[in-house]
Amino acid sequence: MASIIQPRFLDFSTAHAVAEAFGTPVYIYDEKTLEANAAAVLAFPNAFGLTARYAMKASPNAAILNIFAKAGLHIDASSGHEVHRAMAAGIAAEKISLSAQELPCDLGDLLDAGIQFNACSLAQLERFGQLKPGGDVGIRINPGAGSGGNNRTNVGGPSSSFGIWHEWIPQIKQLLAQYALTAIRIHTHIGSGSDPDVWLKVAKMNFDIVRQFPDVVTLNLGGGFKVGRMPEEQSTDLQVVGQPVKEKFEEFAAETGRTIRLEIEPGTFLVANACALLSKVQDVVSTGEGGYNFIKLNTGMTELLRPSIYGAQHPISLLQGLEQDATEDYVVVGHCCESGDILTPAPGDPELLATRTLPVAEIGDFCVIDGSGAYASAMTPKHYNSYPEAAEVMLDAGKTPRLIRRRQKLEDIWANEVPV
Ligand SMILES: *Cc1c(COP(=O)(O)O)cnc(C)c1O
Repeated sequence: MASIIQPRFLDFSTAHAVAEAFGTPVYIYDEKTLEANAAAVLAFPNAFGLTARYAMKASPNAAILNIFAKAGLHIDASSGHEVHRAMAAGIAAEKISLSAQELPCDLGDLLDAGIQFNACSLAQLERFGQLKPGGDVGIRINPGAGSGGNNRTNVGGPSSSFGIWHEWIPQIKQLLAQYALTAIRIHTHIGSGSDPDVWLKVAKMNFDIVRQFPDVVTLNLGGGFKVGRMPEEQSTDLQVVGQPVKEKFEEFAAETGRTIRLEIEPGTFLVANACALLSKVQDVVSTGEGGYNFIKLNTGMTELLRPSIYGAQHPISLLQGLEQDATEDYVVVGHCCESGDILTPAPGDPELLATRTLPVAEIGDFCVIDGSGAYASAMTPKHYNSYPEAAEVMLDAGKTPRLIRRRQKLEDIWANEVPV
């Protein structure tokens, strides 16, 4: 029989205090975990210096940005809106780097403010050249391989649109010459991986690219460090994957005399396991012999979409006032009228149901969904079924909760509608 999973950092009395003060569903972040993750990222092995960025799209609340900024992390932004959001949170423009699929309309203003920019397509490079002739620019390359877990998380290789395809280097050089630009940074973010051999392979491919751009002083290897959310899943050991990468930087220096600075920009690694989504059991139903027992929560795809779209696995546990030994196998579902609102899909297959062994559930029990820090609050089908945005709370080292985002007022959902 599958063993019962315990919450990572949430206990009954903290859950109870947060629910009393702020209601449910609520995202509960753990400051200690955020700080420990930042320290691990800043200790990434490097030969000639490191700039570590937080890929803020993973979870962009200002409180999180500021905890990371205080720890020494810079910011990777994926849109002009994220750049504005980071600056509004108090992050200096010089510490923000933009790698976007869509260029902001006000790119010129953002560049004037001092952000760094990685051109992610030939058209973006040309636009930069028109705005800042003679300027320094980063180039995001798709080196032709990725290591993502599935097509929808793969961000390298021929089926990915991110970055400039590695065969178009002549066209890059032509644009650099045309606008008198200097390529000072090569950027490749190729997807989730924890295998040191893959990291080494990627570093090698990247140095083949760096070799072709004599003015490049920084190589950004992106993010995508795999994090195990479930107990049986492996997390990336940054010391292990980083060591051969560091040696590659040293080899390149010995060969060319060029000492290249390393940049990394994880999102998931920094926040995934630093947040628990706290909800309540709304109902327990059964579909009879040969059917399933279902737990219905007062949360679901409105707060955590990953299970519905990727078949992502999150640890689920119940916190009960009176603990008990009896267990049951349940399918756990969300509160939306949508058959895809499932929190226990089969691993990697959102089309199939799976069950979890949990204590026998009662209406009103707390349910904790761990691993809800990355692409959870940040990535929701907002307002489906007109559920307001959930509150967000930060637990300090003494487990005292501090509100970092209010629960949305119901009427704010339709505030932008224009009455006829
Ligand atoms: C999303 C993204 C990241 C972070 O990816 P994770 O898998 O969350 O670590 C880093 N760099 C860029 C350019 C990204 O788009």
